Amino acid sequence: MPIYEYKCNNCGKDFETLVMGSFTPECPECDSQDLSRLMSKCGFVTKSAGPGGEPQTTASSASSGCAGCASTNCSSCGVG
Ligand SMILES: [Zn+2]
Repeated sequence: MPIYEYKCNNCGKDFETLVMGSFTPECPECDSQDLSRLMSKCGFVTKSAGPGGEPQTTASSASSGCAGCASTNCSSCGVG
């Protein structure tokens, strides 16, 4: 189950939430849906970019690109 980190554009609170399918999270503080999705923890692995160059952001339809990172490791996350 992918966990994403969001920052509320309304009140500035950042929080983590599970995202299932097309579920739209709301800010736990102000119930706003005006959120910015931050890179999940798996995207912030403390290593520089691989030989390929920049890390890829899967902004396409594959919203569950990092389903494995919560359970095991993150080798498939952000790595093309
Ligand atoms: Zn808020």
